[in-house]
Amino acid sequence: MMRRPLALLLSLALALPAPLPVLAYDLPDLGDVAASELSPAAERRIGEQIISQIRWRDAAYLDDPEVEEYVNRLGHRLAAASNNPAQDFDFFVVRDPTLNAFALPGGYIGVHTGLLLAAQTESEFASVLGHEIAHVTQRHIAQIVGKQSQSAMLMVASLLVAVLAARSNSDVSQAAIAAGQAGAIQSQLGYTRAFEREADRVGLETLHGAGLDVRGMPSFFERLQRATRMYENNAPAYLRTHPLTTERIADMENRVTAMPYRQVLDSPDFGYVRAKLRASAGQPADAVRDMEDLLARSPQDEAVAYGLARALLRAGRADEAARQIEALRARAAPSPWLASLAAEISLARRQAPAAIRTLEAAQQQFPAHRSLVYLLAEARIQGGQAEQAATGVRRMIDTRSADPRLWQLLSRANAELGRRTAQHRAQAEVYVLRGSLPAAIEQLEIARRAGDGDFYELSAVDARLRELQQRLLEERRER
Ligand SMILES: [Zn+2]
Repeated sequence: MMRRPLALLLSLALALPAPLPVLAYDLPDLGDVAASELSPAAERRIGEQIISQIRWRDAAYLDDPEVEEYVNRLGHRLAAASNNPAQDFDFFVVRDPTLNAFALPGGYIGVHTGLLLAAQTESEFASVLGHEIAHVTQRHIAQIVGKQSQSAMLMVASLLVAVLAARSNSDVSQAAIAAGQAGAIQSQLGYTRAFEREADRVGLETLHGAGLDVRGMPSFFERLQRATRMYENNAPAYLRTHPLTTERIADMENRVTAMPYRQVLDSPDFGYVRAKLRASAGQPADAVRDMEDLLARSPQDEAVAYGLARALLRAGRADEAARQIEALRARAAPSPWLASLAAEISLARRQAPAAIRTLEAAQQQFPAHRSLVYLLAEARIQGGQAEQAATGVRRMIDTRSADPRLWQLLSRANAELGRRTAQHRAQAEVYVLRGSLPAAIEQLEIARRAGDGDFYELSAVDARLRELQQRLLEERRER
């Protein structure tokens, strides 16, 4: 089995100078920040490049707006309480059972599903996010890379791209070479400990500032450490990229003892997100049995009941899923998770009008939940209301023009309406956001030839086409 390239991202990023002996640098020490670091703009650009490759090419990227939204809400709550609330953050989830989380350059933080499932409380999960946020706000990656080695960082970015490409072509050898290199580098990282301790200390303060339970940090890290004993040489990925020592845990415990005690309850969302991940894993029939077993043990658990309905839907048992979710919605507090699932079940039963009603009501009640907007657009497209779908999505694009899901939905709604120019114009934006300029240009050329655009629309297509062609030229010149 090949090691997951994603697990390498952090080790590669943090270990950068080592694999390139030709470009050996003196590592700046921890205190010396200002003089020799990668600029935040350059860092963000590199991060953007890597993340678009992950979203576009890595099959393990979890394309689930509801789960992503949850992790972002918790992550942004922590970031707002961090020592650099102005830093941009984007959180994303990778479908991988191993315990790992990693920070990419520029504030992109990835979380493995295995880590979310292993956390027993929301504060435990948040403690890992807090630690990763601290790696970013303390600018650890930038400090290691240094200003003069930006080109080396770009080389790492291209190496990562190559690794991901190799995997999607099932050419294992290339990726394995990269993995082997990263492993060798990791063992040379003497300085990582100082960064780790700083990330623990700053992360703990962030956790406290965000109103979460600080005891979540030592308890989770202690369990992670205990888990390593069972792995022997094959430690969980998180511990390979974030070496954990007894000393670190003792440090955390000492700090926590000095902080005021606070009882923090998990949000219902934490239960729902975990139930959704659990119900989505493995074979559908096994997931149903798994959720049934859990429910038999704790019949009052609303998240588990939700998980069972979701597993039933996955197993193609939509009628049973509908009975399960209806019974649950009658007794549980209203939640966007329950409304979304009820709507998805209605769609599976070809009851688009019911799905639209459920989602319209939920959107009124939970206006901040973006994933409801996507699903509502989907339901409207399926329910013959493509015009309303396009209107709703366009309204949201006004404030979130960098969201590829919205452009994809707009493209589909226009396709449904037979508006080919508008369809391909929107599809072009999907490709732009996914970092594929040639594909975007091709879409705009199709849009131009479609023959159903008015003068203004065609002028806009032409202008965008010239802009992207220019950008492509510049990109090629840079290489
Ligand atoms: Zn770390």
